[in-house]
Amino acid sequence: MSITIRIPTPLRPYVGGNKQVSAEPGTVEGVLSVLVTTYPDLQRHLFTEQGKLRSFVNVYLGDEDVRYLQGPATPVPDGAMLSIVPSVAGGAPALQTVKTGEVSLSNAEIRRYSRHLIMPEVGMRGQKRLKNSSVLLVGAGGLGSPAAMYLAAAGVGRIGIMDFDVVDESNLQRQIIHGMSTLGKTKLESAKLRMLDINPGIQVDTYTEPLTSENALRLFAEYDVIADGTDNFPTRYLVNDACVLLGKPNVYGSIFRFEGQASVFWAEHGPCYRCLYPEPPPPGLVPSCAEGGVLGVLPGVIGVIQATEVVKLLIGEGEPLIGRLLLYDALDMKFRELKLRKDPTCPICGEHRTLDHLIDYEAFCGSSIHGVAAGDANGLAVDEITVRDLDQRLKDGLNGATLIDVREPHEWEIVHLDAAKLMPRLDLPSHLGELSQTDELLVMCRSGVRSGQAAVFLKQMGFKRVKNVRGGILAWAREIDPEMPTY
Ligand code: ZN
Repeated sequence: MSITIRIPTPLRPYVGGNKQVSAEPGTVEGVLSVLVTTYPDLQRHLFTEQGKLRSFVNVYLGDEDVRYLQGPATPVPDGAMLSIVPSVAGGAPALQTVKTGEVSLSNAEIRRYSRHLIMPEVGMRGQKRLKNSSVLLVGAGGLGSPAAMYLAAAGVGRIGIMDFDVVDESNLQRQIIHGMSTLGKTKLESAKLRMLDINPGIQVDTYTEPLTSENALRLFAEYDVIADGTDNFPTRYLVNDACVLLGKPNVYGSIFRFEGQASVFWAEHGPCYRCLYPEPPPPGLVPSCAEGGVLGVLPGVIGVIQATEVVKLLIGEGEPLIGRLLLYDALDMKFRELKLRKDPTCPICGEHRTLDHLIDYEAFCGSSIHGVAAGDANGLAVDEITVRDLDQRLKDGLNGATLIDVREPHEWEIVHLDAAKLMPRLDLPSHLGELSQTDELLVMCRSGVRSGQAAVFLKQMGFKRVKNVRGGILAWAREIDPEMPTY
């Protein structure tokens, strides 16, 4: 009476190099505990410290995942084949596409990379892999800035960057790749200058086109690793889906105020972003960094973590953040780690894929039934008023109209119009009694987005005459009062 346990490549060193080992029949749990007693080095690869089978070690009886049989209690009968299929155990899944053979390092490169070359984990082999590899950074903002600089410094042979923004003074609080000398230039131009100044030996390719469902697969296909440093949900889902469809690792980072997240989504070895967040949050529920703010050094921490993960994947060393969500809280100065599971029902990386192509991500992220945008879709489109017209109305004494500023009190403190009443958007429900049903309600915020949502809400609450101030106080500062500070 015996069964066979098939050992995957990364675990073979712990069982004397064997492809398979024989064992006595029993339950899955019993068989595996005998296995790790025989091969103690295998213990930590298969089980957690609490003795539970690791989340990303899947065990198959024949071709069935035992989770869908009786779990650890599943009987393994005589003659059966048990396969261990780990996603993360046994070290980094090295990128198959990166080769070392075709490149060499010049004397200048050997000098430049000497601190890498003297580490056995990198060495000539790793440095050549870096030179021979490519990474695409989606976004040259807060996360992309430090990532681009360190990846350039590390000697990643080809770095692509996508961005279509222009360097603005308000970027410089965190986007350290840009500076006063590149104000008004495109972020791509600015980033490329800085990267080539750090390391003229690399190739920097820039893409001004916005990432879309039409170009994502073509652009991503050229790169070994994709690093997602975007600030919006449609692009996050687009990056994820394109990476899953192409089998590329997606090095993820996100930031908000004092908190950051990082992970590596690589569907072939672990969960994807959709496994973690099957649906986007309703529009307007999660404020953007432009709306909610971000501590300037935070993207530095998270962007550098992303760069670290990229380098590890490229050289094939270490334990990547696959199946793990790293949470960073700058205020508490704490890192936490959550285990991520691959969702078997995930539409794009699950067992029964229902999504085999890229979709309309704006619609996917904007069509939530919870969001105020749903009101908009239900025909509650809101009229707008320009700042020039608002200026005229104010000069005329604002007869029969109320100007409502729906920003936060700390934004009001930076700058506001004297004629406006402060009613932060999320407090609006408690202010409804103060508003006249007959008055015209003119709603403003910083740029016109939040006030648009607030205006839809007011119409839903039965106010008939609601207008959104197009462009918000930023438009006012631009067109009416250039002396006014902007933020
Ligand atoms: Zn998934």
